[in-house]
Amino acid sequence: MEPIRQLHDNFKSQSKLIIFCDGKILYDHDQKTYCFDVKDLNSLSDYSPYLSIAKNSISDEYYYSINIDPETNVLGIFMDPAKIEFTDFRTTLSFLDPSDFQLISRASILVNWKATNQFCSSCGKQTVFNLSEGAPDCDCHAPPRYPIISPCIITLIHDNDRILLGRSKFFPPNMFSTLAGFIEAGENAEEALAREVMEEVNVKVSDVRYYGSQSWPFPSQLMLGYFCKYEEGDIQLNDAELEEARWFDLDDLPIIPPDTSISGQLIRSYISDRSKL
Ligand SMILES: [Zn+2]
Repeated sequence: MEPIRQLHDNFKSQSKLIIFCDGKILYDHDQKTYCFDVKDLNSLSDYSPYLSIAKNSISDEYYYSINIDPETNVLGIFMDPAKIEFTDFRTTLSFLDPSDFQLISRASILVNWKATNQFCSSCGKQTVFNLSEGAPDCDCHAPPRYPIISPCIITLIHDNDRILLGRSKFFPPNMFSTLAGFIEAGENAEEALAREVMEEVNVKVSDVRYYGSQSWPFPSQLMLGYFCKYEEGDIQLNDAELEEARWFDLDDLPIIPPDTSISGQLIRSYISDRSKL
């Protein structure tokens, strides 16, 4: 899949469409897909020009994404409204495979980017999509408005056979996850990690090891995943971000995030490979 950012006045032939509405995504449970053939939909002219987000260079299929306004006649878009079902976006991500996860994340980030860059933030004029830059532009010479990605750290704090996990009040009951936070201006990732851990749970850590990264579309983060080793300090919740944080023995874990999220991957990787750290 080749990532692209283009606006098209009409759909290219062999187009697929990913549809969001009010924080939810359209998912066809029968066909197990969130990519719909444009030919199966009624008029979408209200959403022109259409945002293409990726192209399959083998099949030549273009992937488009739109965000339907819940106030408009959503059902009118579908030839068979009885079959449509919007599902919670976060829930959908939990059962996607990695390549689908990446495509859906990209779709969500780019529809938000298109919606929030209709006007120039320097002079207030309406922007024009610059095809060569693949971004909204303004004749006031402000830089083109590329998608903004926010870097965050996410880390598993370990101490031999136990790991420190926290839960926000938005999690399902008994689900705990690794700690995460935004990198501040001027900070490097390791400094952000030490600061976030101290701010959130009052614990000092060391031996920071990089694991990998993941795009996270809530709304547009790049999660940089690390392991880190517990040094000292008793858990104390210092800000309002976490509802609870605890040490868990590896053989007595709570519900943890799915493997599609980097949090779930960090925890499972530590369980299976901790001797390598
Ligand atoms: Zn401007």
